[in-house]
Amino acid sequence: MNRSDELNPEPMVGDEELSIRPRLLKEFIGQDDIKSNLNVFLTAAKQREESLDHLLLYGPPGLGKTTLAHIVATEMGATLHVTSGPAIVRPGDLVGILTNLDPGSVLFIDEIHRLSRQVEEILYPAMEDRKVDIMIGQGPAARSIRLDVPSFTVVGATTRQGLLTGPLRDRFGIVMNFGFYDDTALDHIVRRSSTILGIEVDASGSAMIAAKSRGTPRIANRLLRRIRDFAQVDGHALITAPVAEKALKALGIDELGLDRLDRLVLEAIIKKYKGGPVGLETIAASTGEDSGTIEDVCEPFLLQCGLLARTPRGRVATHHAFQHLGLPMPKNSANPTLDLE
Ligand code: ADP
Repeated sequence: MNRSDELNPEPMVGDEELSIRPRLLKEFIGQDDIKSNLNVFLTAAKQREESLDHLLLYGPPGLGKTTLAHIVATEMGATLHVTSGPAIVRPGDLVGILTNLDPGSVLFIDEIHRLSRQVEEILYPAMEDRKVDIMIGQGPAARSIRLDVPSFTVVGATTRQGLLTGPLRDRFGIVMNFGFYDDTALDHIVRRSSTILGIEVDASGSAMIAAKSRGTPRIANRLLRRIRDFAQVDGHALITAPVAEKALKALGIDELGLDRLDRLVLEAIIKKYKGGPVGLETIAASTGEDSGTIEDVCEPFLLQCGLLARTPRGRVATHHAFQHLGLPMPKNSANPTLDLE
């Protein structure tokens, strides 16, 4: 299974997934700055009996953007309409959605950077003035009519803010950046999910899972489920650190929480390009992975861990990456982060 299948897609929305997804802001663990600011904006909007301003959430996959969009709708007592950039193919599709919204609705648009230009053109006046312009007829007889749209809030989600066009970004009154979670928050998430799912995990087990989750709640929950499988088959009723460790090894997760693709990327840079600099497309070609997956899913965590760095000439593996993989430093390299003296 490749990494984009593992991490990126629409989260599984099976019963288990739904049951562990926090429903209220107070159940949402970590991201304290986002939570406290959002709490103010939600309270103020409710007091004024207005819709919340349009909200843009950005950050790597699995950090809780979809979850927060659901929470916003619940906290506002609003109807949630869920869609995504690639799902809205024609401008007419968006007009249909907008004109059928209940007043005060939250419209969640995942992967909002993938909206086409023509669809964006419909969204701008709807977000700003609650109007949509549609064309009736064709040729010289064509005329444009304006329709009113009920008040609504767009919650847009994307991996990187820079993927949005400037005009679309400017329409969002609130922009929030999701960073990776620390081990304490992830430990809390693992314990919460294990209680909901009825999985017995002790403190050492949950700390071990938290430390190997690449700062990502979705991975923490996934590891918990997979480790449960190993524990069950091996006849362990309780997930302890040694039980988790054995399962993580079988899953190909290393001490830092890196998985097969993370290591593949670092190894390609080190073994094939002497540690870099090397361009993203070249890394993608030499690992057989999609460049978007490497950039959005793999790189943010490698950058955060200090294993990878970006330079104007391309990606480079750092000292730390050579050490982590136990690979020798090259004799000469154009990699500016390596001190080869
Ligand atoms: P994204 O939309 O950013 O890809 P999701 O909102 O789908 O991420 O989150 C992935 C899963 O991780 C969710 O199903 C949820 O169970 C869990 N999760 C995310 N953020 C949190 C959080 N802050 N507290 C608890 N669980 C969380």
